[in-house]
Amino acid sequence: MSKHDFLSSSVAQELLAGQDWCPFMPVFGPPAVMFARGQGTELWDINDKRYLDFLCGIAVTSLGHSNKAVARALSHQAETLLHVSNFFSNPVATEAAMLINGLMRLAGAGEGQVFFCNSGAEANEAAIKLARKFGGRGRHVVVSALGSFHGRTLGALAATGQPAKHEPFHPMPEGFRHVPYGDVDALVAALDPTVAAVLLEPIQGEGGVIPAPEGYLESVAAVCRERGLLFMVDEVQTGFARTGQWFGFEHAGVSPDVVMFAKALGNGMPVGALWARRDVASVFSPGDHGSTYSGTAIATAAVIAVINEMMAIDAPARAREAEAWIRSELADCEHITHIRGQGLLLGLVLAPEFDSKAVYTQLLDAGLVTNAVNADTIRVAPPLTVSHAEVVEACSIVKKILSALAASATNRTPL
Ligand SMILES: *Cc1c(COP(=O)(O)O)cnc(C)c1O
Repeated sequence: MSKHDFLSSSVAQELLAGQDWCPFMPVFGPPAVMFARGQGTELWDINDKRYLDFLCGIAVTSLGHSNKAVARALSHQAETLLHVSNFFSNPVATEAAMLINGLMRLAGAGEGQVFFCNSGAEANEAAIKLARKFGGRGRHVVVSALGSFHGRTLGALAATGQPAKHEPFHPMPEGFRHVPYGDVDALVAALDPTVAAVLLEPIQGEGGVIPAPEGYLESVAAVCRERGLLFMVDEVQTGFARTGQWFGFEHAGVSPDVVMFAKALGNGMPVGALWARRDVASVFSPGDHGSTYSGTAIATAAVIAVINEMMAIDAPARAREAEAWIRSELADCEHITHIRGQGLLLGLVLAPEFDSKAVYTQLLDAGLVTNAVNADTIRVAPPLTVSHAEVVEACSIVKKILSALAASATNRTPL
């Protein structure tokens, strides 16, 4: 085998053929499919089988695969300027930050400033440091919710309210406290003079697509304001039109002090951002935080393209419209007890006899990409550009698979 052959798709073929070696560390389960290309809502695997992508790389490719505007911006930027470091500036990052500030101002959050990073976890890490500097010595605790997800780096993991994810890595960094999501009294009870900030998702995405209960974010925002605590909202999964508003917090009409973004921000280009109101951001001084790639031109070119394109198509309205299509197509499906979530971040809650893992596998086989976000819930997060025909096709796959699984379960039951 020549070197060239080895590096070509034969590697992929061998992997799929069940070779027992893998070039990746075993932190992810065995990959179910190897995808080769995508266009809009569609994906094709290396055998050219077509799929509808109703997961979007976990709410990342919100404008669809191979989006023209994003692709053009990236290829233009790749031939113009990739990176210069933060000893200098570049017009691309500047424009991207101004666009984010503008959207946040329109959302009622006030005047703010942006720190660019490369992922959701990094945005949360930066927020945790900002909270600690804001609070000052002895007032450093971040209170977050049980069932939350804030990322995999140590600080973000410590903020994540899932003890099972902490278990292998103790001791966790100090200064984090968790309270039940949706319980204002429990949150108030957890506050003491060591607390600097409260950190919440508007909808717990990884936790199972659990929306904040009515009035919860409003009450938390009021408590934070009364006590001088930072109200930090993790919009990594909900931000940028996914829920039918530009930002998840807008549904509650609150104005957070600090907001974190990533996922849809780059439509697949790795980029994250921390936004903070100007008076909060000003507690940082030069040297307090940084990243080699902060505001790198290639990543922020994607941010500009994403925001401009989302504005041009009125992405929040598209999410609301497609949500209505999905809810209406699945309304007559007896195997789905209800649908949680908002916009195009939805959790299909299956009747108790179903195992979401098995359903996910069958859907994938049938050409529909989703995710079993917990034992009874299938997460669907199609691109905001999804067409009505694609929604109809995807929902008919869901109904067909659930009916088939229900029928085979019934057949096995002895009468
Ligand atoms: C995905 C996610 C993160 C982590 O983002 P990474 O880019 O994977 O580090 C953090 N917070 C929320 C709410 C997320 O959904």
